Amino acid sequence: MGTAADDRPAATAEILRLFRDRGHSQYGRELVSQLEHALQAAWSAERAKAGAALIVAALLHDVGHLLHTLSEDAPEHGVDDQHETRAAFWLEQWFGPQVVEPVRLHVAAKRYLCTTDPDYLRQLSPPSILSLALQGGQMSVDESSAFRSNPFSHAAVALRRWDDTAKVPKLATPPLEHFATYLDKAWEVGNREDRQ
Ligand code: FE
Repeated sequence: MGTAADDRPAATAEILRLFRDRGHSQYGRELVSQLEHALQAAWSAERAKAGAALIVAALLHDVGHLLHTLSEDAPEHGVDDQHETRAAFWLEQWFGPQVVEPVRLHVAAKRYLCTTDPDYLRQLSPPSILSLALQGGQMSVDESSAFRSNPFSHAAVALRRWDDTAKVPKLATPPLEHFATYLDKAWEVGNREDRQ
């Protein structure tokens, strides 16, 4: 077993490798690849001057889709791949809650916004509307207030809005390597917090 310090390059290398191996798969029924979607979301976070952890969360929010072999049309067959839970479980091995929790909550944030923001539901893409039903649909009053009281709900809502706009075919973005430095930084922050 290595020390935590030994894991840092391994974490960055493993994430970059995963995107290189599987990032060219289609993002569900959207007109962008998983990698394009991740880069567009991360780039929005960077332009909004988010911190390193939230930029990394934006980059990795859908990494759960790359961790299974279910087909991209699974929602059309009534299957929720629970990608947010898969991603959070996988990311916890390297990152602290500032990265992990917005990722875990990004589907709940969609349900929350559908419940509280009438304009939000109207601008969702058709595949996103389809998966909404599988993900639990709109929230009850109790679910909404539980979501609001989560300390990471604001970060999750911000991430969700970047997620929803990160579906532009052929949009030029910085490359994956550009965001690798944020992976290192977010790893350091997470491990500092863990030691407190
Ligand atoms: Fe997404």
